[in-house]
Amino acid sequence: MSSPASPTIVVGAGIIGLSAAWHLAGLGQRVLLLDSGPAAGGTTTAGAGFVGQWAAGYAWYWNESERDIEQYGIDFYRQLAESGNGPTGYRQNGNVWLTVTEQGRADHLPPFEEHPLRPAGARSLTPDEAAAIVPGLDPSAVTAGFLHPDGIQVSAPDTARALVASVRARGVEIREHTPGAALESRDGSVTGVRTVGGDVISADRVVLAAGSWTNALLAPSGRELPTVRVVASRLVTQPFGLPDTLPTLMLPELHGLWIREHRGGLTYGAGPGYEALHVGGSDRRTEPDRRPVRPDLLDAMRTYLHPIVAKLLPAASSVLGVDETPTQGVVSMTADRNFIVGPVPELVGLVVAGGDNESGVTHGPGLGRIAAELSATGATTLGDASRYDPARFAAAAPSEAEVVRMMPARREADARRAGAVA
Ligand SMILES: Cc1cc2nc3c(=O)[nH]c(=O)nc-3n(C[C@H](O)[C@H](O)[C@H](O)COP(=O)(O)OP(=O)(O)OC[C@H]3O[C@@H](n4cnc5c(N)ncnc54)[C@H](O)[C@@H]3O)c2cc1C
Repeated sequence: MSSPASPTIVVGAGIIGLSAAWHLAGLGQRVLLLDSGPAAGGTTTAGAGFVGQWAAGYAWYWNESERDIEQYGIDFYRQLAESGNGPTGYRQNGNVWLTVTEQGRADHLPPFEEHPLRPAGARSLTPDEAAAIVPGLDPSAVTAGFLHPDGIQVSAPDTARALVASVRARGVEIREHTPGAALESRDGSVTGVRTVGGDVISADRVVLAAGSWTNALLAPSGRELPTVRVVASRLVTQPFGLPDTLPTLMLPELHGLWIREHRGGLTYGAGPGYEALHVGGSDRRTEPDRRPVRPDLLDAMRTYLHPIVAKLLPAASSVLGVDETPTQGVVSMTADRNFIVGPVPELVGLVVAGGDNESGVTHGPGLGRIAAELSATGATTLGDASRYDPARFAAAAPSEAEVVRMMPARREADARRAGAVA
């Protein structure tokens, strides 16, 4: 372990960096957490806050390791909710996958039904059974469903605030509005972080968790993460009396549509609200806004989703399109759709934690724990670290367009059609 005199610096106070700082402090490290803006002011605050065992049928390219990280996240949020550090919006509403055609049923539900990691209580639903547990669902709008009862929901911004309080309570110093300009190094080892203000903060260990901005600090070390940065969007309706017992709904057949309750209304999103930044001409050297504003993506999403959501939940018709609040953020998808957490071979003492694959609220607690343990002890007690090793990729990352071409299909049915799985 590093000496108490030398802090471990964590760069980035999103959900992954906050978790890393919390776990490092729990391992007896002195920790300094830097963020260029307010803590949790990046992508984390845009998160929709639904969490579940995606490795058990939804994300076919994940296995027990990601499932263990997901379960750790669920347990972590329950304990955070009970810790008295502020509201988190935690509730166990379950996750329900729905299909709207017979083909959708045949394509998307068998991976859940047949999955070896199928969680306790998971079950198939007829349309009427789905309507019995999904308040307001029109059963004639769906062909089948599948329930994971353990899925939870949190408010991502509230949860991040509670975690900030919990991190401070563990003795971590948080310096907000302190952008890291560069990593300092000598003879192949990290020696600290230089801030934009010109100060050099010395440290023999650094955890770099700067979300979709990680490569800007990492690249001078000779390594870049093969990520593609994507603007992701969601809309929040006005309240219309929707009960807060609504499970999170997911419809993979409809461009990944998801829906959850938010303060008596809905928040929802799907593929038309997403666009990779390079599509607009940006490249890896361009730093995206922390909180992007893309009205065109919101319009595309409204046009596609309003008729669908109104059909599924007819009571929502009165509020769809009426003063909806948009929320957008930049997520980082990786070339193999798995996370990147581990030591950077080019710079001793540096651990990177990035490539959130738009599921950092779910996996952030566990990824932060892995980063902290690898930084402090060189080994992790959660998951299979070899799956997240940055060195599984070449040091020089391909273009973002090339990363998109490398990524496995999102849905198992699409991968089967492409012949990628038996
Ligand atoms: C619309 C939307 C809905 C989503 N819904 C869900 C969901 O329901 N469930 C789920 O699991 N995930 C969801 N996600 C994904 C989730 O929000 C992200 O995966 C997660 O927040 C990423 O966390 P992070 O810590 O990697 O990044 P961030 O939260 O972006 O944190 C990185 C931090 O680093 C700071 N930083 C950057 N550069 C520097 C620098 N040079 N110096 C200092 N600080 C720096 C930034 O200011 C930022 O605060 C959603 C995302 C979006 C956009």
